[in-house]
Amino acid sequence: MAVLVLDKRKKPLMPCPEKRARLLLERGRAVVHRMRPFTIRLKDRAVEESVLQPIQIKIDPGSKTTGVTVIREDVANPEQQQVLMLMEIEHRGQQIRENLTQRRAFRRRRRNQLRHRAPRFDNRTPPQGQLAPSLQHRVDTTMAWVNRLCRLAPVTGITMERVRFDMQIMENPEISGVEYQQGTLQGYEVREYLLEKWQRCCAYCGATQVPLEIDHIHPKSRGGSDRVSNLTLACRDCNQAKGNQPVEIFLADDPKRLQRIEAQAKAPLKDAAAVNSTRWALFRQLQATGLPVITSSGGRTKYNRQRLGVPKTHALDAACVGPVTAITHWNVPTLTVRATGRGSYQRTRLNRFGFPRGYLMRQKQVKGFQTGDLVQANVPTGKKAGTYQGRVAIRATGSFNIQTREGVVQGISHRHCRLLQRADGYGYTFQPKPIQEDATRAA
Ligand SMILES: [Zn+2]
Repeated sequence: MAVLVLDKRKKPLMPCPEKRARLLLERGRAVVHRMRPFTIRLKDRAVEESVLQPIQIKIDPGSKTTGVTVIREDVANPEQQQVLMLMEIEHRGQQIRENLTQRRAFRRRRRNQLRHRAPRFDNRTPPQGQLAPSLQHRVDTTMAWVNRLCRLAPVTGITMERVRFDMQIMENPEISGVEYQQGTLQGYEVREYLLEKWQRCCAYCGATQVPLEIDHIHPKSRGGSDRVSNLTLACRDCNQAKGNQPVEIFLADDPKRLQRIEAQAKAPLKDAAAVNSTRWALFRQLQATGLPVITSSGGRTKYNRQRLGVPKTHALDAACVGPVTAITHWNVPTLTVRATGRGSYQRTRLNRFGFPRGYLMRQKQVKGFQTGDLVQANVPTGKKAGTYQGRVAIRATGSFNIQTREGVVQGISHRHCRLLQRADGYGYTFQPKPIQEDATRAA
């Protein structure tokens, strides 16, 4: 994994390998600027524009996790790319949603006790185009990290996966006669299109969450075409059971389903179905940064991933977004950034009936520490003797809990703790390399 580098005026320089960073720190030519993501600052050098190379941030937005990758482009051929950093942002949309639902329920219960009250005159509906708080949070955290990375690396462009499949490549697939071909870029776009069109379930039995195969409604062996209007999705069992029977015979005892499949096969998917409002909102905000934004489709991402033989993780998916012919240095640990929030305004907890239960302390800091700080604790003696690094949860007593990679360590005194990085609303962990090198070969 590359180390981010700033010059003495805190302007970003090209990221450098870990070894070089270690030497710079040992010789006193650099200081640690930030622990996560690890960033050093040179003490004796200012940036020269000529030494900078093109760097891209690539984003694969997801509902729970967004993959973010920083890559360096080859100057001569931008499609040759070297991975500098893999990162995954874990969103907390679900938590936000639950908190708001709970608040709404508690309010409703309290207000209902006041017998009938007329609705407010300005009982508000959200303005058109406004995202729900849980979705806005996804856009906000992703943008926060794009902006942060732009401050830490000399980013020259952004690539994002904006749609699942590219309508432009297929140009109205039902009418223009796009044909499915295994393993081509267009084949992958068609596959994503079909998943969306048939709602990710088996057309014959309705099974979801199972591997789906592409099925020819009118079988190929009986002269059926590869055109999109002749394709549907089937689970393995249904596909095998159907074999090369015509659909009218296979579904002879279920005329309703037969009718529905035939109608749906002919109807093209509306353009709007492929548009995801959160991704569009993110795209517009990325454009507002002023950097050139390249957009791509999920079909292309999958095509690149399988062609380049890269395993499936959110971060590596991000590396495969957009036009890529080769990627190197991708087998590195991934930095997982979990959105934790910065604590809660609520100073009391509620029981399940919505009545207060206990009170939380009012001050946010204890002995100079705050929940969410990244700390290192060196406990010299006793049952907890050892060194621990992780996210701290403070207690009024000064006896803290530390969330380490191995688990939570309870009851560590503040006297043993040293601050590494202030709480910034995120928890950081590392995931091991996607492919472990052979232990015997290393030895
Ligand atoms: Zn099935």
